[in-house]
Amino acid sequence: MMELDTTTTTIMGALATLSPPQLSDLTHTLLSLSHHHRRRISSLLSSPILFALTIRRLNSLSLHHKTLLISRHVISSLHHLALHFQPAAKAPPPRVKLRDLDAVLLLLLLCEAHQHDPDALQAPTAKWRELLGKFYCDTMLTVSGIGAQNASVLVSYVEMLTRCLRFVSAMESCSFGGKAGREVPAAKAVVVALPSVEVRSGGGGPKECVICKEEMAESRDVCEMPCRHLFHWVCILRWLSKRNTCPCCRFALPTDDVYGEIQRLWNVLDNVASEKGLV
Ligand SMILES: [Zn+2]
Ligand SMILES: [Zn+2]
Repeated sequence: MMELDTTTTTIMGALATLSPPQLSDLTHTLLSLSHHHRRRISSLLSSPILFALTIRRLNSLSLHHKTLLISRHVISSLHHLALHFQPAAKAPPPRVKLRDLDAVLLLLLLCEAHQHDPDALQAPTAKWRELLGKFYCDTMLTVSGIGAQNASVLVSYVEMLTRCLRFVSAMESCSFGGKAGREVPAAKAVVVALPSVEVRSGGGGPKECVICKEEMAESRDVCEMPCRHLFHWVCILRWLSKRNTCPCCRFALPTDDVYGEIQRLWNVLDNVASEKGLV
């Protein structure tokens, strides 16, 4: 059952700010993702070889690597929601390899089965496929399983995200609820894709680059951040190699740092939810 903790409240708050077309867009995306995931889980549970390989892979991974797998899963899940609020920093959701997806889906299923019945996984590993198969069929027949239609697909999404975020913050002993974060460099792919614009004479007199405090000469090409702030290319490239935020307004660009990226996406949701007074 879903606990209404702050994580859940923030995600629900962000969902509540979506317009009906955005909500139906998101539901559509989540439905097709959930079908894809179900197909993968069914293949895992019906193929002894694939199942054994995936279990062996999970066993070979350290706790840190398992946390990374779950974190990447969180990032691609958060992406679907966050891009509705920040189309400016749209970066394609990270591609997940099929074997990583299988590993993370099996890991989550194992966690769920364990939570449901802590003794279930005491059985020898050879029995796990059968046990999980039974557990999976049972959950498919519950409310959030049936047909995974509109409302229930959103409920499962919120539940899954809450569970994973809680896991990641426990493992990394960090809280994504807090606004403070470590400094992380902006993602290289995003930085190279930033547009170059020509400085034009405007009403406001000469424009200054806040990094070097020097004027940006008219008709010179400078870098425009998604928040519309302008900087000398040399200055901003050096800046973004250390942090992913705009020096003027702290607008955050995507980062390749897994936990930094979760933090960034989380802040996007937290901001929209708190702006509307929903958290
Ligand atoms: Zn400068
Ligand atoms: Zn800015």
